[in-house]
Amino acid sequence: MDNNYKCNNPKCITTTEKYIHQKFTKIKNKEDMYRCIYCDHEQRIK
Ligand SMILES: [Zn+2]
Repeated sequence: MDNNYKCNNPKCITTTEKYIHQKFTKIKNKEDMYRCIYCDHEQRIK
């Protein structure tokens, strides 16, 4: 997973700490759904 995506959770640390690279993990059994490794927010990424 590359990090061209931004977590859309406003409370996520990556939205306030710009130097932190975005990281997501794929959610199994959910198509196009990924989870931010920092806040566990799930969002759809295409
Ligand atoms: Zn996040």
